[in-house]
Amino acid sequence: MRLLSLFLICFLIGASACNSQSKIQTSTSEVKATVNDATPDYKYNPPAEEGVIEKIEQPESYWKEVLSPQAYNVLREDGTERSFTSPLNDEKRAGIFTCAACGLPLFASGTKFKSGTGWPSFYEPINNAYVQQDVDNRYGMRRVEVSCARCGGHQGHVFPDGPKPTGLRYCINGVALNFVPMEDFPQAGKQ
Ligand SMILES: [Zn+2]
Repeated sequence: MRLLSLFLICFLIGASACNSQSKIQTSTSEVKATVNDATPDYKYNPPAEEGVIEKIEQPESYWKEVLSPQAYNVLREDGTERSFTSPLNDEKRAGIFTCAACGLPLFASGTKFKSGTGWPSFYEPINNAYVQQDVDNRYGMRRVEVSCARCGGHQGHVFPDGPKPTGLRYCINGVALNFVPMEDFPQAGKQ
C-alpha cells in the first residue's frame, strides 16, 4: 500500500512538471505566475512580490567569498568571459536563467535564441524591473550595460539588433547566470 502511494505521488509530481514545461515554452508571463513558490535552492530566489525589487547590498569581500573567481570578475568587476566558453550557450532545455550572484530570475528559455556571438542571448528579460540598464561609454563604444537590478551584478549588454518581437539582443555572460531547468520546479504546475 505504501509503495502504491509513493508511486502515485511520483506520478503526480511528474505530471505537473510536464504541464509546467509546456507552459514555459508558450508564454513568459505564465512562467512568472507559476514558479513563484518553487525554491530548489538559492540558485532561484524570486522577489517576495513579483516585479518589486529590494536591493541587496553586500561588501565586496562577501561576493569574493561566494562567487568563483571568473564569476566575480564578470559580476563585480564588469569583466567579459571568453566567447564560446559557457556551457549555457548550448542549453536548450526549458527553464529559467537566474542571476548567479543572488538567484533573481532574469531570463526564460523561451526568449533565448541562437545569436552566433558565443554568448547566451535573449530577446527580453523575464521582467523589465529585474534588469538595470545603463549607458556604458567604455572602450570607445557607446553600449548599454545590463546588470541585475537586485544585487547590481554585471550581466552583459543589450543591443538593438535582436530578433522579433522586441528587436533586442541581450548578450549575457554565461558565468553570470545559473540555469534552473523546469524539472526542478515540481510545484510549477500548481496555481
Ligand atoms: Zn543578482
